[in-house]
Amino acid sequence: MIRRVDADPRRPHRLDVPRLPARVFLPSGRVARLSDEAARRAAAQARAPDIQPGGCMEALTLLEAEDVTRDGDGAPLDVRGLSLRDFHVLRALLLRAGVQKEETAELPCENCGEAFRVAPSSLLEIAPFVDGELDDPELDAPFDHDAAHVIPAIRVGAELARSVRVAARTVEEALPLFRAESAPARITPAIVIAMGITTLGRERRASAIAKALGEAPPEAYQSVADLLYEAHYPARLGAVHRCATCGARSDLDVPWRREIPYEIGEPRKARRDFPDLDAFEAMVASAADRIYRARGVRNIDLFVDDDVPACDDGGEPLLGCYTPGGTDPTLGMPRPPEIRLFYRTFQAEHRRDRSFDVAAEIDETIDHEITHHLHHLAGDDPLDDEEHAQIEEEALRRIGKREATRRAGKGVASELAGFVRTTWPLFVIAFVATYFTFCR
Ligand SMILES: [Zn+2]
Ligand SMILES: [Zn+2]
Repeated sequence: MIRRVDADPRRPHRLDVPRLPARVFLPSGRVARLSDEAARRAAAQARAPDIQPGGCMEALTLLEAEDVTRDGDGAPLDVRGLSLRDFHVLRALLLRAGVQKEETAELPCENCGEAFRVAPSSLLEIAPFVDGELDDPELDAPFDHDAAHVIPAIRVGAELARSVRVAARTVEEALPLFRAESAPARITPAIVIAMGITTLGRERRASAIAKALGEAPPEAYQSVADLLYEAHYPARLGAVHRCATCGARSDLDVPWRREIPYEIGEPRKARRDFPDLDAFEAMVASAADRIYRARGVRNIDLFVDDDVPACDDGGEPLLGCYTPGGTDPTLGMPRPPEIRLFYRTFQAEHRRDRSFDVAAEIDETIDHEITHHLHHLAGDDPLDDEEHAQIEEEALRRIGKREATRRAGKGVASELAGFVRTTWPLFVIAFVATYFTFCR
């Protein structure tokens, strides 16, 4: 699906221009045929000035333009009758192919703070849509439209609502949301209906729901928005960016700009305090004392590291890691085994999730690293094998099994998680031998 364009002599760098795939499977199971040529022709035409570039309305205009889409049998595709999930997949493909221009995401790496810029759709793995491999229990899970989904309490009139129901929506039904794209986020009854929210607690009236959402605490509203994203976008529409500096992964939404507002009003800053470095070290020391005794180990050095945390092979910042004893390669001196806890990962987890229990997580991390230590002494670390297998499995599900096989065949080691089985074990062995056995 990627075409290599001939180099223009004035531009020394060749560009890989991704094209729209000719045929894709959509989350609902239906098939869509796409014409790259017709889509580019439509994109070249002038558009109404109030249409947001890269947005849903623009996508709809392009998909409805002459010859751009057909259904599996070659008949015209009723784009407005598509579910939002199906539509957003097509939208992601338009962005990825550059038919629509995607806004660049500018973010700091959550692990080391280094800023990065990327168009998220350029990192989307599309092979599962092309190959019809949409059967992953998580990435392709259907949304439960009948269930009352639990949310933090939101006041609705005299009552507190603790659940919400979200119905499926077609493009046609969601048009009020699309039209509000370029306007500031305000929840109106029409928007509530377009979002598919059918009940908030026991309330069914869109007007009362709109008012309640508009006045809801930001965290509570965001948990509703998270559910709407889940309902109307398949989980597979996401990309993984790896930090060029520290290797940490950032998971980004594709498309990056979404029609459902994520923030209304001012986000609240108040957070439970996170212990400062001294307090954290004291917590670690007392926990280690207790856990070392309970597990019958000693002479494992313990460090609290407040530098940029190391990441596992999948790019997840580590809470802790274990390094077996050995000979220090630079000093040539014997070195005891060590357990290292990464202060900043604990801090980041706490920032992300206020219920993150720092003391309990310290305990669990130390205990977990001791398990690695004991496995290491026994000469075999099934825990480590399992962790590596999990990382590989995660990437495989995202990229698609068939695509992974194709890449392995071409010897393209574009993903760290090691589809190239010949280099993967060597990489792991080299790493473990010289450095850490990773964990947690
Ligand atoms: Zn980083
Ligand atoms: Zn581990």
